[in-house]
Parts: sequence; C-alpha cells; structure tokens
Amino acid sequence: MTKKYDYLIIGQGIAGSAFAWNLYLNDKSFLIIDSKEKNTASEAALGIYNPITGRRNSLTWNADKLFDTTEDFYLKIGNILGKKIISKKNIYRPFKTNRDLNDWNIRAENTKFKKYIKKIDNKGILTSKSGYLDVLKYLTESRKYFKSHNRYIEKKVNSKNIMIEDRKIVIGNINAKYVVMCIGINQKNLDLFSNLPLRPVSGNSILAEVNFNSTHIVNNKISVINTSKNNVHAGSTYHNGFENMGTEKIEKQLKEIVQKKYKIKEYKFGVRPATRDRRPFVGKHSNIDNLYILNGLGSKGVSQSPYCSKELLNYIEFNKNLDQEINIERIKT
Ligand SMILES: Cc1cc2nc3c(=O)[nH]c(=O)nc-3n(C[C@H](O)[C@H](O)[C@H](O)COP(=O)(O)OP(=O)(O)OC[C@H]3O[C@@H](n4cnc5c(N)ncnc54)[C@H](O)[C@@H]3O)c2cc1C
Repeated sequence: MTKKYDYLIIGQGIAGSAFAWNLYLNDKSFLIIDSKEKNTASEAALGIYNPITGRRNSLTWNADKLFDTTEDFYLKIGNILGKKIISKKNIYRPFKTNRDLNDWNIRAENTKFKKYIKKIDNKGILTSKSGYLDVLKYLTESRKYFKSHNRYIEKKVNSKNIMIEDRKIVIGNINAKYVVMCIGINQKNLDLFSNLPLRPVSGNSILAEVNFNSTHIVNNKISVINTSKNNVHAGSTYHNGFENMGTEKIEKQLKEIVQKKYKIKEYKFGVRPATRDRRPFVGKHSNIDNLYILNGLGSKGVSQSPYCSKELLNYIEFNKNLDQEINIERIKT
C-alpha cells in the first residue's frame, strides 16, 4: 500500500525548507522532492537578515512582524539539528559623506527606526536585530535530517510526471493531500501558476580567504560577513535576467573594505525569484484545489520564509485569511 502524506513539497531551497520545518513543528506528515538544481538562489545567498535594507536604507516591509520571529525560528531549527546555523550580528555602515551622517541622524529620531539603531558616531552607524543564516549548512543539515526520517527524495518534477484530474494534482505516484510548489525561478518552466509574473534577478557572491576580523557585518555597497577566522562571504550583485554578469564589482569593493590581499575560494551565482511589487507569492491555485505556492521571496528569503510559511500553513489547515499583501489573488489574470 502506498504511504499517504498530508503534504508534498516540491523544492528544498529556503522556501521549501521553511515550509517543511513548519509542518514538522505542527506534526504534519510530508515528503519533499528536490532535483538539486545548479545555481539556485539559496545556494548563492549570503543569508543576511536585516530590517534596514536597500540603497535608500529603508525599513524593510513588515519589519516588526518578520524580525520578531525570524531569529526564534532558526534557533529552534538549529536546536533540533544540533547545529549552529544562525549568528546574530550587527551591521556597520561607514558614512561616505556628511549627508549620510545627517540622514542617519534624522532616521534616528524616527520611532520606527530607533529600535534598530545601536550606535552612531562621525564615522558610521551600527544597526541591530540583524545577522546571518549559514544557508548551506541549514539546507544540507535539513536535507540530511529529512532524508533520515524518510521525508526527502531526489527527483525532478516536470510536465511528464504531473497529472491533473478532477481539479486535483498528483505528482508521480505520490499520494498527498496537498502539494506545495517551492521551486523558485524554475516555476517559470512549468505550466502551473504561469499567470504569476515571477522576475528573474541574477546575482553573485564570493567566498574568500582574508584576515579580516570584524565582529559586525560590514555594508558599503556590498556586504562582507566574517564567517570564520580568515574567511569571508561577500556580495551581492543584482541583474534583471538569468545572465551571470560576474563578480568584478564585488571584488573591487571587497578590496576597498578589507584593505588587504585576499584569495578567492569560490564564485557563487544564483537567480532570485523576484516580484514586481516586492511581495512574496503565497496562496492557492485558482483551478486546482489541492495545489499551493510559496515563491517570490526575492532578495529576502531568509527573513520572509518563516513568516510566509506560517501564513500558508494557517491558511490551509485553519482556514485563516492570508496576509493580503502576499496573497497571489492580488495578481489579476
Ligand atoms: C547572490 C545572492 C545573494 C543573496 N543574499 C541573500 C541574503 O543575504 N539574504 C536573503 O534573505 N536572501 C538572499 N538572497 C535571496 C535568496 O537566495 C532567495 O530569496 C531564496 O533563496 C529563494 O529561495 P527559494 O527556495 O524560493 O528558491 P531556490 O533557492 O531557487 O530553491 C528552489 C529549490 O527547488 C528545487 N527545484 C527547482 N526546480 C525543481 C523541479 N522541477 N523539481 C524539483 N525540485 C526543483 C531546486 O533544486 C532548489 O533546491 C540572495 C540571492 C542571491 C542570488
């Protein structure tokens, strides 16, 4: 007799992993299928979560809601895995001009920003409630864990192994009540959810060896994380499309930040699944009753995935309304 699962999750990047852990914490049965694609966004990610982002240093969408739960979520998963996957770190932004100092002094008066500001002096600003997830460790250890609990298989989902009958989807011969697609930008290669305008935004990061001892993440055009003694992860670039535009910009800036010779250990490249309004795509398929999606995490998968997966689970299991800003129903067909 074939085993029956509550959920089948397609894709085990940052999105699929967060949803799987939410199911695990809620005692739901599930199976994950992943085809271990190359150049996934998750494998290139620096893993930073940071309430103040972008060139304009704006407060990120939903900051208070997201940042209250992000760290707790990954700490909990780290405890189950018996691994340290998250590091709390402040972010240091050196000022380039006097205008930066003025702008930050104005922001510091704003109550919304105030709680995230740790220290300002004439040289720069230190912000808090940030850090980074060791994404590779999180994905690898989660995969190992789920594999050992018979909840993970390596397999590619394509049009040949998808069957739709009576408004229900079945993948291969897997018997699952619900199917949740979490395949990032590859969603564009399937006919399902083709009305959702996912935008590919490619990007690079590099791993390098250099004696740069910073207790903070340094942000100056790029971000540099001291991941361990003599090792840094630096990035990122943003380019609309699938093309790999190289790491020249990152290397130039890395040199300026560390002011030392460094040795490249690895070049990383991935394609982010982004959306025009910068809000994730979460929700139910309009014609297939047991099919759902968690995608469009853009450049903020680490902080958005715990919140979005919880929203999706509450929506499916308890019929709770989805946050309208992430609900795919906002996309007009
Ligand atoms: C250079 C770079 C730096 C970044 N830095 C950060 C950062 O510091 N902080 C942050 O929060 N975000 C960062 N991001 C963004 C982050 O990586 C994304 O938001 C996130 O990884 C998206 O995750 P995902 O699971 O939706 O997609 P993906 O990472 O693409 O994962 C999709 C998964 O689905 C699998 N899959 C695909 N197709 C199929 C199929 N047909 N069948 C079965 N399985 C399939 C793949 O193998 C993969 O495991 C960065 C991105 C890049 C490119």
